[in-house]
Amino acid sequence: MRSLFLLILVVIFYYFLKSIFTSNKNKNELSGNRKEPERIDDMVKDPFCETYVPKSTALSSLFGGDRFYFCSEDCLEKFKKKNSV
Ligand SMILES: [Zn+2]
Repeated sequence: MRSLFLLILVVIFYYFLKSIFTSNKNKNELSGNRKEPERIDDMVKDPFCETYVPKSTALSSLFGGDRFYFCSEDCLEKFKKKNSV
């Protein structure tokens, strides 16, 4: 009876170790396979005219530590003027 209890403990311990080992392995695999997602068609909002433009073609500018994206230089300039007053 006591040896059976010990056997169960050993089995639990075995599965416990196995789960730790496999979870670490999965973590390593995930971090190893992690790649920067392609953001070609990431849409950003023009805060001036409120249209959505692809990030790749949008004009970006920093205002007070925040990055804003614009559909055109015209919008960028107008936004600058509006926010500098
Ligand atoms: Zn615009």
